[in-house]
Formats: sequence, C-alpha cells, structure tokens
Amino acid sequence: MDFKEIFGDKPWIIAGPCSAETLDQTLDTAKQLAANGIKVFRAGIWKPRTRPGNFEGVGEIGLEWLRQVKKETGMFTAVEVANSKHVWDAIRGGVDILWIGARSSANPFVMQEIADGLRGCNIPVLVKNPVNPDVELWLGAIERLEAAGLTNIGVIHRGFSSYEKILYRNAPIWQMPIELRRRRPDLPIICDPSHIAGKREYLKEISQKALDLNVDGLMIESHCNPDKAWSDAKQQLTPDALKQMLSELVVRKVNPENASMETLNELRFKIDAIDNELIALLKKRMGISEKIGEYKKANNMTVLQQQRWDSLLEKYYKAADENNLDKKMINMIFKAIHQASINIQTEILNQK
Ligand code: PEP
Ligand code: MN
Repeated sequence: MDFKEIFGDKPWIIAGPCSAETLDQTLDTAKQLAANGIKVFRAGIWKPRTRPGNFEGVGEIGLEWLRQVKKETGMFTAVEVANSKHVWDAIRGGVDILWIGARSSANPFVMQEIADGLRGCNIPVLVKNPVNPDVELWLGAIERLEAAGLTNIGVIHRGFSSYEKILYRNAPIWQMPIELRRRRPDLPIICDPSHIAGKREYLKEISQKALDLNVDGLMIESHCNPDKAWSDAKQQLTPDALKQMLSELVVRKVNPENASMETLNELRFKIDAIDNELIALLKKRMGISEKIGEYKKANNMTVLQQQRWDSLLEKYYKAADENNLDKKMINMIFKAIHQASINIQTEILNQK
C-alpha cells in the first residue's frame, strides 16, 4: 500500500505516543485516537536517547502491542527502525510504515545498513531530517533507500539541533524542507511539530506554519497521560487535546478554484520587479566594496574595521525598528552582505 491509500485525504495525520510503555498505555492511547478519527498510529519501541540511563524503549514486545492496536482499532501502525534487525523484526511483526530517526539519517553507515535490510521489501518509509541542517545528507539517506529498490518514500521535517539556546527544542529552519521540496518535488513531506516544539504549547503555531507551507501531513505525539510519559512528557498531548488542536488548524489551498489569480499575479509581478532592483543595488554596492578594497590595499589597511561594522549594525537595527522590519532578517541580510564585501576586499588586498 502507498501513502495515499493508507492516509486518504490530506493533511495526513500520524499520532501516538513518543514511546510504547505498557500494553495498557499503548492500547488506551490508540483507542482514544481511533475514536477521534486518527488512522495511523505511531509508537517508538527502540528509542534513541541522548544520554544513557533514560528509558530506551520496550523493544520487540512492543510489536505484539502494535499488532493488538491494529486488531482492535483497525489503525495502521508506524515504528522507528535504526538497524537491520529492527527492520526485520518490524516487517515480520506486521508494522505498516517505518520511520528513520534524525540521528540515523545523519549517519550514512546506519542508512546503508537499513537500506540493505529493506532490499526487496517495498514497505512505506519516512525519513526524518538529519539532526544537522544538511540537505545533502537528507537526500543521501533517501537515495540509499531508493537504490535498495524502495519506491514509497516520504520525509519528516522535525527540526535541527542548535548550539544556541532557542525558544523551541529544535530549530525548524523552514528553508530546509523548502529546499528539499525544490530538489525532490515528488516526495511527500510530513512535519513533526512535537520534536520541533519540545513543549505542547508551541504545537499549534508550528503545525499551522507547516500547513501554510503546504506540507502533506503532520506527525504529532499523543499520550493518554502525557505528564506521566516515560519520554518527551512535555511535548505530548492527550488524544482529545490533539483532536481539538487539529480542528483549530486552517487548511489552505495552493490554488483555490474561486480565487482570482490576477491579483496574485499582479502582486508577484511587483515582487519580481523589487527583487530585480535589489540585485542591481547589490551589484552597485559590491562595486563600491571593490573600490574600498583598492583604497585599503593602497594604504596598507586591514579589511575589518570592527568599530565601523558595530556602528553600522546598530544603525540597521534602529532602521529595522523604525520600519517595522524583523531584526533577525535585517541581521541575516546585512551579515551576508558584509561577509561578501569582506571576501572581495580580502581578495583585492592579496592580489599580486
Ligand atoms: C521520535 O519520533 O520519537 C524520535 C525519537 O524522533 P527524532 O528522531 O526526530 O528525534
Ligand atoms: Mn519523542
């Protein structure tokens, strides 16, 4: 069965606990989710934990529990696999969808082992983004599965580890799934707001943003007693809270039949014209940077004049405030421009 046959209408929803803990917890959660209209049940039974000593999953016995979920609720089941034994056990255990975790997709050796284990068995597989924001690594993981003959492949965007402390547990870096879609428009994308958020209060805003970016579905952790969960307690929702949240999300269309494309085309035309102006301005600016480089070379000056850069940044922030522009965006743009300007000046300084 392919994803379309399994999920039906979009957005596709996968829900279930971070981990299967006991038969009761697994069945209770599954029954409530099924009663709330969820068709695909997730539960981790082999859990990759950052530090040893935390709950590492119930292992193979969990496959029996998932079988029971299937029998009693009619739901499809999904489980994470991280090596060829998991693959073999999960397939033999009757699981319908496999997913590959963020720590595994970051490791080509692990991916190759999983791909080899899957050879000749066309089960649907969802590949989470690697923990580090590297679209090539993500694509590489997918390509290893394709080389093993798999044709039912989708991806899961679950955010990326970051060194800096941020609001969410994992930085969404939305450009990553957007770039993946550009490179592989054929692959369905499911967003996992739970592992991006880390806290249940952020789930709705992240889910809505993902839907607004036209993802195909959502994978959300749900537990019959979230606060008592053995893993990821803060980010899980009860099945009823999940139902409520899903009902509050707005599903928009890419091209609604009754929308006037003329207005949109006109606005896009304006945006294109502004982008062209920006390019022309950047070209002009780089020309001046070159002249500055030549001046610094002639006077034997260093490229980076820290004070000047600090005062410029301050000015840009003030301008951002006055014009109601996002400071983060201004910071990113000017840092990139400044870097390019430094690069060209360094090149000139070192020309023979
Ligand atoms: C999970 O889905 O429970 C999980 C471990 O996710 P990730 O690989 O995204 O950390
Ligand atoms: Mn989890």
